[in-house]
Parts: sequence; C-alpha cells; structure tokens
Amino acid sequence: MIHGLSPTRKSGAAIEADLETTAPPAQALPFRIGHGYDIHRLERGRPGGKLILAGVTVSEELAPIAHSDGDVILHAIVDAMLGALGMGDIGEIFGDSDPKWKDAASKIFVDDIYEKVRQAGYRLANADVSLLLERPKILPHKPEMVNNLKRLFGPSAAVNIKAGTNEQCDAVGRGEAVVAHAVVLLSAVN
Ligand SMILES: [Zn+2]
Repeated sequence: MIHGLSPTRKSGAAIEADLETTAPPAQALPFRIGHGYDIHRLERGRPGGKLILAGVTVSEELAPIAHSDGDVILHAIVDAMLGALGMGDIGEIFGDSDPKWKDAASKIFVDDIYEKVRQAGYRLANADVSLLLERPKILPHKPEMVNNLKRLFGPSAAVNIKAGTNEQCDAVGRGEAVVAHAVVLLSAVN
C-alpha cells in the first residue's frame, strides 16, 4: 500500500477538524497550571509609603512605585491564576489607569480572580512563589505571609514562599526593584 493514497487516510484539514471536536473543553481538564511574574521599582523614604508583600508590611522605608499597593506576590499569583484559566493578564482586567484601583489593596484582585477560578469549577491546589529583593530580610515575615495566602485560598491550599536576594545583580540586586514569580496549580472540584 502506498501511503497517502489509502482511501481511509484523512486530509490535514479533516484531522484538524477532528482535533477541534475531540479536544476536551477547558473545564474538563482535571488540572490547570499557570505562571505569573511581577516587578515594581522601589523608592526610599516616600512619605506614607510602605512595602507590602503577600499582604504584610515588611518595610516603611521602601515603597513600590505602583498604581495599586504594588504587592508583587499577590500580583504574580493573580497572573498565574489568570494564566491557568486562559484569561489573559492582570493589566487587562485591573487597568493601571483606572482610578478605581488607585492604591487598592491587592487582596481585592486576588478575591475577584479566585472567584472566577471557583466559577470555572476549580480550586487552588497549590501555589509556589519566588520572591527576589535585597532588603529587608523576609524570613521573619514569612509565617504571616503564608498565613495570609492560606486565608485567601482556604486551609486546603498548599502555599510556599521562597525568598532570596538577586546576588547584587541588576536593578533587584541594587535594591531598586522587587520581583515575584508564582506558579499555581488549579484542581477541578469533584
Ligand atoms: Zn504589580
């Protein structure tokens, strides 16, 4: 038999059509994974300014330059959840020119997007965060930060925060910026 001439062999277009009809709908996936990244520049000595990470004030000397409260951990987690849902990114939903979000506590963004996660039939199974900044030391704040995340996602969510410096490399290493990466796993409920 000569390949390509068999009467049962399907054309590329037919195979694509089959794939479209047999691909599981998004809701049918048992798990969805997402990644998020956020960076904010830091300034020193801004009156009333403070650095908030995972809802915890870790410094009143340093403050992020941001439209909202500039919580990089929560912003990265929101983007990771949106990524897992295939719903774009945080800037599309909470625009940084919208006066509604000026100085907003980022918990609002997490609550809003986690509601979308639940509406899609998922819960957050686990989240892993990598935080990069030179100062201050994060270790003493970690338990409260993890507790805050558990409050946002419920006791069944496994959350982890890893914090490190950037070994004096680039803007983060000079203490001019703070960065967070987040990976989340959403698990279908039922
Ligand atoms: Zn941000």
